[in-house]
Amino acid sequence: MVRVALAAAATAGKHDVPVGAVVFDAEGRELARAANAREALGDPTAHAEILALRRAAAVHGDRWRLEGATLAVTLEPCTMCAGALVLARVDRLVFGAWEPKTGAVGSLWDVVRDRRLNHRPEVRGGVLEPQCAALLDQFFRTRR
Ligand SMILES: [Zn+2]
Repeated sequence: MVRVALAAAATAGKHDVPVGAVVFDAEGRELARAANAREALGDPTAHAEILALRRAAAVHGDRWRLEGATLAVTLEPCTMCAGALVLARVDRLVFGAWEPKTGAVGSLWDVVRDRRLNHRPEVRGGVLEPQCAALLDQFFRTRR
């Protein structure tokens, strides 16, 4: 699943940080995928996860409740995206690289496993981390 997210990340515009996200349904079928498009859309909320969740909700039978779904993303989600995946009732989150500066799934905060929330997705981080981190390193290296 993270491999598919990596393919989505590769479709980011050249000014956008290459982060990709994919939503799979309970049977493992792909519902939607997206790349970060903050620069391309001029939208501060156009993170890959948000765009993928919106597209998935549009095609999912149960509309916005993505119960049974898995969100795979190449980078640890920020607070906005972590909040969104809890609101979408996503069952599982799988991500690649850890984000020590803004990560909200264990690094800086742990938004999705807060015991005060009644919906807490299962989490697996660090999947294909070297490949996910390399894509980001490459992007930032060429920007300097
Ligand atoms: Zn985000």
